[in-house]
Amino acid sequence: MKHMNDVIIVGGGVIGSSIAYNLAKRGQSVMLLERGRLGMEASAAAGGMLGAQSEMEDTGPLFQWARQSRAMFPQLSEELKALTGIDIGLVREGLLNVALSDVQEQELRAREKLQRAAGEQAEWLSAAAAAKLEPALSGATRGALYLPGDGQVEAPLLAAAFAQAARVLGAKVQEFAQVQGLLTERGRAVGVMTSEGPLYSDNVVVAAGTWSGQLMARIGVDLPMYPVKGECFSVLTTKPLLRKTLFTTGCYIVPKAGGRLLVGATVVPNSYDRKVSLAGLAELMDRARLLMPALGEAEWEKAWSGLRPQTADGLPYIGKVPAYEGLYAACGHYRNGILLSPVTGKVIADFVLGGGEDSFQPELELVLEIGSETELGSETTSGTVTGTGTRTEAQTFSAMESLLDAFSPDLSGQSKRIGRREGKQFSAIGKELHSIEAAH
Ligand SMILES: Cc1cc2nc3c(=O)[nH]c(=O)nc-3n(C[C@H](O)[C@H](O)[C@H](O)COP(=O)(O)OP(=O)(O)OC[C@H]3O[C@@H](n4cnc5c(N)ncnc54)[C@H](O)[C@@H]3O)c2cc1C
Repeated sequence: MKHMNDVIIVGGGVIGSSIAYNLAKRGQSVMLLERGRLGMEASAAAGGMLGAQSEMEDTGPLFQWARQSRAMFPQLSEELKALTGIDIGLVREGLLNVALSDVQEQELRAREKLQRAAGEQAEWLSAAAAAKLEPALSGATRGALYLPGDGQVEAPLLAAAFAQAARVLGAKVQEFAQVQGLLTERGRAVGVMTSEGPLYSDNVVVAAGTWSGQLMARIGVDLPMYPVKGECFSVLTTKPLLRKTLFTTGCYIVPKAGGRLLVGATVVPNSYDRKVSLAGLAELMDRARLLMPALGEAEWEKAWSGLRPQTADGLPYIGKVPAYEGLYAACGHYRNGILLSPVTGKVIADFVLGGGEDSFQPELELVLEIGSETELGSETTSGTVTGTGTRTEAQTFSAMESLLDAFSPDLSGQSKRIGRREGKQFSAIGKELHSIEAAH
């Protein structure tokens, strides 16, 4: 069998492109296959917030990944600019997590303590102090949690820069190349079937956003996923009204270059259609004007939508697929794929290259190694994994669950994956999906 590439990557969004870049940088011959145009799905729709602190509800492993990833942006921005000439628009002005109610104030004050205990900068501001920082903020503000470390980028430019940088470093990048199936042989991945015929490789990475679960299902790998549509709009102002991102339950406003304000986002689970609804936009506009009344005077620019790749319990799948040697998953980043793209690219490259000197942070080993020693075929039982360190017997999942957890950091003891035999593949017990989705 002819192996034309060291690695084939399925999906040319920000995740697949980051992986291609990281692997090409480390001398691998890479083929990136995108069925449409590069970066035109979720990655083009994103607000670009690097919300390592604003997005994470606790300080578990995913938070560790998020802050590692956020910290990678300054150097990444320089690297990508040098290789491609593309400025990814990194802005490090911080974010105001705004409370408009008592409940929100309590939540944010609790989060301030949590973040500080984790060694991050977080400061509760009175309404007056918040208004001093951002005078356009609504008079209805009860106060705000100031997170100076959470920045933002231009998401479509980041995706484009990763893909272009990968090309510059020798990766082959093919648009309009649909992968119809994954090719396997005697328990290992050997390539992919495309509309143009088979392509062979010893390593295949599935980074196909919300469609990843469907591709995996065809070879018997169960990665429960579903799309969550998000609608956004943007307006133009004659002079800049904001410096920091404003973020509250159900709405955020991200100041972009040239007086442009990006407003997001609705939450429509299980929708594969990308139409922008009037009802969705109307609700978003109401929320945004509550947060920043001057928005009403701004000039309309455009509206759009994208499909966030969500998993059953809200945690991404990143790592090896134990059932098939040479097969990797990098999908399900939901609301944080832009933020998590640098670290995901690096971690997958580490996996493909066999870890070693370049392997990731020791405290994340649990996340990376879960499930790798569990054999398929044992009884299904449920369980949870918490904390960090080496995996113990007691933490061992059933075959199906280890398959899922192999790639998923577990946010907290509350989060629990559901076995297939319980007949609830898409449930997430102990996690209030609605509440975590509400803000984004
Ligand atoms: C409205 C909205 C706002 C968001 N805001 C933020 C934010 O502020 N910060 C943040 O960090 N994240 C944000 N996100 C989330 C972020 O956009 C996603 O997590 C991220 O883009 C996922 O990247 P991806 O590459 O996995 O998926 P995608 O960008 O969807 O890319 C997957 C690609 O795979 C391709 N593909 C699928 N099937 C095949 C196949 N069979 N063969 C070949 N190619 C295939 C698709 O065409 C697609 O281009 C937001 C998302 C939305 C929708």
